[in-house]
Amino acid sequence: MIVVMQRGASEEQIQHMVERVEGLGLKSHVIRGTERTVIAAVGEKREHARESLESGPGVAEVVPILAPYKVASREVKPDPTTVTAGSLVVGGGTVGVIAGPCSVESEEQIIATARAVKAAGATALRGGAFKPRTSPYSFQGLKEQGLKLLAAAREETGLAVVTEVMSTEDVALVGKYADVVQIGARNMQNYRLLEAVGNCDRPVLLKRGPSATMEELLLAAEYILNEGNPQVMLCERGIRTFEQHTRFSLPLASVPYLHRKTHLPVVVDPSHGTGHTYLVPDMAAASIAAGADGLILEVHPDPERAMSDGYQSLNFAQFNDTMALCRKVAQALGKRM
Ligand code: PEP
Ligand code: MN
Repeated sequence: MIVVMQRGASEEQIQHMVERVEGLGLKSHVIRGTERTVIAAVGEKREHARESLESGPGVAEVVPILAPYKVASREVKPDPTTVTAGSLVVGGGTVGVIAGPCSVESEEQIIATARAVKAAGATALRGGAFKPRTSPYSFQGLKEQGLKLLAAAREETGLAVVTEVMSTEDVALVGKYADVVQIGARNMQNYRLLEAVGNCDRPVLLKRGPSATMEELLLAAEYILNEGNPQVMLCERGIRTFEQHTRFSLPLASVPYLHRKTHLPVVVDPSHGTGHTYLVPDMAAASIAAGADGLILEVHPDPERAMSDGYQSLNFAQFNDTMALCRKVAQALGKRM
């Protein structure tokens, strides 16, 4: 349910209603909008809860939340959310660009990439230290050493660091070095991990599982929001279909669809979404045209020698050209990039 407060309701009245909601055994999320404050009351259905809340002081109305996801829904929060993490701003008319290698491989590699992507206009650095690989024989990442190298690259360039966390035990460690923690596609429905990042104080980039529906993605985001972390970005990174010409199929209709259903900003990953370097620039531009609030792109100094995902990585010159193309689209839409 949404407890909609009257315009100009006092802080005391809001606090009173938070207590009333919690007294009913429900969790409360206070959302302060431009128009008015609402309290999302979530949890198991309680008999007569609505009637009982409706009579509260300063309450305009109590309405049910129709969507299965609650705090993530536009019904609860009509104003779009902007996520900020150091140099990275995603949403609110600003297109954030997260760029860097699939995996952190060495100090030279990550520092050179950080410098190059920053010069080209990226606003955050990506790089996997804990890598979810399909084969146990593939490079698994440099782990904590990789995190340290990412922190050194931030020190050098000022770019915020986005990196994946794969398990609950590593959330504190990754959170110590990262500005944004990434939940990879394979872990989108690892609910204990979602709760763990919901309890950390870092913004989260939540990637869509390759076979997850939009509703499952939004319910995964709901796990994070429900723990009290409001800084969630959704990432469309392509889904598994019968199609073979691309690594995954990248459905860009997800972007306007998500914008209709949720206030959370939407990032697109055309690198994993296509799996081919030559498809990335156009799909990055198309993502912005579809309304994406951010991009995450794989960039490597020497893609041919990359330890993972070289075939979909841009080199520095290609990244520069991609940025120039995307900027034109962003400008045409009146967005900052
Ligand atoms: C990645 O971003 O490096 C990654 C592993 O992506 P995904 O989880 O989308 O496969
Ligand atoms: Mn990758």
